[in-house]
Amino acid sequence: MTADASGAYDALIQFLYQAPIGLVQTRLDGEITMINPMSAQLLMPLVPDGNLLNLFDALAPVAPQLRRLAELADMDGGVICESLRVELRRTDSQGRETTPTIAIRLVRLDRTTLVASVSDVTQSIRGERQRLALELRDAARIDTLTGLPNRVVAMERIADALATASTVPEYLFAVLYVDCDRFERVNVTLGSQVGDELLRLIGGRLNATVRSDDGVSAPDSSEPAAARIGGDQFVLVVQGMRETSDAHSVAQRVVDALAKPFAVGERLVHITASVGVVLRAQAVGDPEEVLLNANVAVHEAKRAGGARYDLFEPQMKERASLLGTLESDLRRALAEGQLFVVYQPIVGMADGVCVSVEALVRWRHPVRGIVPPAEFIGIAEETGQIAVLGEFVLFESCTRLVAWQREMGALAPRTICVNLSRAQLLGASFTAKVRDTLRASGLAPQCLQLEITESLAAQDSGVIAQLHELKALGITLALDDFGTGYSSLSSLDELPVDVVKIDRSFVCRVESSPHHRVLIEATVMVARSLGMTTVAEGIETAAQFSVLQRLRCDKGQGYLFAKPMTHDVFAEWLLRDTALA
Ligand code: C2E
Ligand code: CA
Ligand code: CA
Repeated sequence: MTADASGAYDALIQFLYQAPIGLVQTRLDGEITMINPMSAQLLMPLVPDGNLLNLFDALAPVAPQLRRLAELADMDGGVICESLRVELRRTDSQGRETTPTIAIRLVRLDRTTLVASVSDVTQSIRGERQRLALELRDAARIDTLTGLPNRVVAMERIADALATASTVPEYLFAVLYVDCDRFERVNVTLGSQVGDELLRLIGGRLNATVRSDDGVSAPDSSEPAAARIGGDQFVLVVQGMRETSDAHSVAQRVVDALAKPFAVGERLVHITASVGVVLRAQAVGDPEEVLLNANVAVHEAKRAGGARYDLFEPQMKERASLLGTLESDLRRALAEGQLFVVYQPIVGMADGVCVSVEALVRWRHPVRGIVPPAEFIGIAEETGQIAVLGEFVLFESCTRLVAWQREMGALAPRTICVNLSRAQLLGASFTAKVRDTLRASGLAPQCLQLEITESLAAQDSGVIAQLHELKALGITLALDDFGTGYSSLSSLDELPVDVVKIDRSFVCRVESSPHHRVLIEATVMVARSLGMTTVAEGIETAAQFSVLQRLRCDKGQGYLFAKPMTHDVFAEWLLRDTALA
């Protein structure tokens, strides 16, 4: 070796000895020909007797596969293993057991030599574990669909606000519970992909709405303000308000913001939301209770028609618990046959003869007596019991008319009218259910009329397609409560209905209000021009009857003719009425 070469060699050895990484050179069988201090230190725990002579022998207890891998390696060199992690067990100077992890990289240099590098990766593994743990924690706090904070975070924020309020008397906050109105309609008519996208957009719009106002800030500006706590429900905890009225304005802005259409793909989707607000003054108890109360207020807003906000008040809870009792009672009522159907005749205006009959459901409550449908149809819709209820009324009505046809022949009403709820129509395979019921009861399709309200049919292509399906069965459709809401005379032709039922609120003003009289007259004319017939609902006086006759309404229904009756009373009424006629 020249002097130069020997200098370079010394430098290399120096480098190897001081390198912060373990380096080991061995023969093919693992016999160590060179090892630096770092390697010796890292590998020593593997050889309790201190005889570190052969790398494969030393690693045999933790990496027995290494020797075989080395034998299989390419003769001319190459990587044998990239980064083999080995967990060691050792006792430190204070007698504590630690488990450092080393990573071994093994390379075949040439036909005779292997080189291994050994490094301590304990720290980086610990870091990796911590990162994973953080990610897991985030996953438990983030709603995957929207990327918004989830219920856990919402509860933490409410807890924070409560804690601050307990120490800072003038601190104001509000919890807003945002619940979309009839979101299921989006999923059913447009598909759940549109529904998912809509939820993301709603989340984004909520955040924008809260942040754009200066007086109100999100709890931690690095996190989105809106949390998604369930299906179509979001929570905003508005902290740092200047005055209570700020909560009103935020709630109203949320309602307004969500009522604007959303562009989902190519289409514009309309949705509204109801908001329940719990103010600091009402925020008692734990976060769960605050959220529950906000939910009670949301239900109040929905019952009032949705697309609005309501502030929680303690009295709401009594109402909610009454409704809760009604809900569980209703479940029992359906199972135990406490529901029954009453029948109200619909007569021809020209001759007063009963041509049709409307089926109206009643509940014989064991404690409260007869409960009118207005008090429980809404609950049945909210709780999904409407499907069973509706099937019951439909089957009962169809079999009843078949029985009357059998008993009274030509005297029986020609059709029976059954009311439909939105939720029923949106349920899967409703048309098939109607077809099955007709078949099971033996009723001819043309004897069945289904009544839908204006709001149900209004501008919803999914619902309209459903209605066409139903009509294809051979049944007829009536538009109930016409005049109370959504559709106008000009859009009547877009609905596949055969009958228009003019709402009682028009009929009862027919004498006193020329405006209402004109509207009825126009409705009759437009309906007739479209090949539809009209029924005036809620005729109570002979005077109303004669005005409606003059306005050329086709049929009438109301207390003047008869109140709704049980089926046996109805049969008697029918026979007596016909005898009189
Ligand atoms: P609706 O379909 O408009 O039914 C007519 C309502 O007006 C009935 O009230 C009937 O008793 C009442 N009525 C009839 N004639 C007169 C009158 O001359 N004067 C007055 N003041 N009222 C009259 P009811 O039976 O309480 O039903 C209320 C609503 O509940 C119904 O309104 C309908 O929307 C719903 N409903 C009833 N039965 C069912 C059902 O089986 N399924 C569904 N989904 N809804 C139902
Ligand atoms: Ca009706
Ligand atoms: Ca009606």
